[in-house]
Amino acid sequence: MDARSGAHWVAWANTHARNSRRIEDLEGSFRRDVETFITVLERAGARVEVSATRRSRKRAYLFHWSWKIANGKCRPADADPMAGVGIRWDHGDDVASRAAALEMTRGFGLAMPPRSVYAPALSSNHIAGRAIDMTIRWNGTVELPRKDGSTVAIAWTPNVNSNLPLHDVGASYGVRKLRSDAPHWSFNGR
Ligand SMILES: [Zn+2]
Repeated sequence: MDARSGAHWVAWANTHARNSRRIEDLEGSFRRDVETFITVLERAGARVEVSATRRSRKRAYLFHWSWKIANGKCRPADADPMAGVGIRWDHGDDVASRAAALEMTRGFGLAMPPRSVYAPALSSNHIAGRAIDMTIRWNGTVELPRKDGSTVAIAWTPNVNSNLPLHDVGASYGVRKLRSDAPHWSFNGR
């Protein structure tokens, strides 16, 4: 296929660089911690809906550089190469290179300025398989055991970021809440 950047790389990524929402794709020790925490939640009567686990490193690379080039944050020739991707960002013409990168940001549905003023990150706990996005719901109050066996009664609240007792139970199993990102839990809270 054409190595030059453009919309066909979105189709390529949707086959070769997909994100996962499978718990089995998480890194080994964090995977076991997540499985334990979710089992505890479900046994207590909560419902857990997983929306994202491991993020593809290649996909993150395509997000990052297409966003930067499309927004004029770097020259097309300045984008780093990545083994196993082989995309050519520089078409030998900055206007054409930028238009091709813009096709990709649209195809990926990336948030652009002013909605987002930061390029999508090249590294994250999702890429390392050490973060999970999930929505946890229950009716009323559940009794949840911490890892040490002590239990705590926790009322459901629509704002999970403020439900500190729930964060405390998760942390006892090694699954830590990032308080600025509603569905996000990770091995270190970032
Ligand atoms: Zn996340």
